[in-house]
Amino acid sequence: MTSTERGIAAAEAHSAHNYHPLPVVVATAEGAWMTDVEGRRYLDMLAGYSALNFGHGNRRLLDAARAQLERVTLTSRAFHHDRFADFCTQLAELCGMELVLPMNTGAEAVETAVKTARKWGYQVKGVPDGRAKIVVADHNFHGRTTTIVSFSTDPEARADFGPYTPGFEIVPYGDLAAMESALDDTTVAVLLEPIQGEAGVLVPPPGYLAGVRELTRSRNVLFIADEIQSGLGRTGRTFACEHEGVVPDMYVLGKALGGGVVPVSAVVSSREVLGVFAPGEHGSTFGGNPLACAVALEVLAMLRTGEFQQQAMELGEHLHSELGLLVGGGAVDAVRGRGLWAGVDINPSRGTGREISEQLMERGVLVKDTHGATIRLAPPLVISKEDLDWGLDQLRGVLGAEG
Ligand SMILES: *Cc1c(COP(=O)(O)O)cnc(C)c1O
Repeated sequence: MTSTERGIAAAEAHSAHNYHPLPVVVATAEGAWMTDVEGRRYLDMLAGYSALNFGHGNRRLLDAARAQLERVTLTSRAFHHDRFADFCTQLAELCGMELVLPMNTGAEAVETAVKTARKWGYQVKGVPDGRAKIVVADHNFHGRTTTIVSFSTDPEARADFGPYTPGFEIVPYGDLAAMESALDDTTVAVLLEPIQGEAGVLVPPPGYLAGVRELTRSRNVLFIADEIQSGLGRTGRTFACEHEGVVPDMYVLGKALGGGVVPVSAVVSSREVLGVFAPGEHGSTFGGNPLACAVALEVLAMLRTGEFQQQAMELGEHLHSELGLLVGGGAVDAVRGRGLWAGVDINPSRGTGREISEQLMERGVLVKDTHGATIRLAPPLVISKEDLDWGLDQLRGVLGAEG
């Protein structure tokens, strides 16, 4: 047995099988590269679903974490701590908003957004008690809690997890007319991913987000943008909403906010909206802890320079022009995405997304398939052009599409 086989067998023996990982056992990582237990190197073209936008082992983030580890790591929100105010102030500023409510995981932040919107609906909008409705899109991915899977359209995510939380209406993503007819007097919010990541990096039709912004504004409905995966530089802008000049009422953030070091998520909104909470009505033991705030503050400092957004934009243009050349050649049916983020639909003649991912792994590139025929590319934003080109060479090799 190799050490890889031993590692996999041991993991499978004592973990729930709620994932189907590629057969690689990572031991160390730096920048865009990971090394497995047998010393083989892999280019990470997934970046922890955008949690690793700044790469593995980023010096600035590790230094910030290390320094904070020596000071204080956890206080609970029963007390103030000296990193909290800066974190909230600077995150609100980056978002152009007023208030921040920190949590840990993305799903918790989405739950927080749902609770916020409902409470705003009852207290501010005047929706009759118990009637608040939130409109979401089909093929959405907002997390794994019982409430969130209640409004998923993915049978794998939902089946056998009922009874489901009521209060959600699902409309087709990208369809403005359907959105318009779903909005009524009880609607408190529309919750959308500006680009649907798990669905296969689906970019909505031009004008959709701006249209939703107009509809929600005119109907006094909150527009909640789940930018957990699309935000913080991935698409070439700080937020994917910016590509349509849209400012939502609430951002839901996570993943890259913790720099791939610690889980950090947050809901960011106006005083009118997040001001609905009073002490005791919502919270989290770990939310906004000193270590999380210290790492996130460094993430925010890095985002303020714009260099990562710029890198994602420039390398993203390169990525999409290279991938575009593959479309129509028999191997790739379609490519979507923005910035350093792409969904590539593999023609079934070349294998399933999983098979392509396994073949890429053999060549030293790690990606993740989604929904059968699609592979998702989302390398760390710190990837070099040479490494990106090398990764693309491996993809062409696997697809039998060498130029
Ligand atoms: C990953 C993700 C979530 C859930 O985040 P977790 O940290 O896994 O709970 C929610 N929304 C979107 C768009 C995501 O990509």
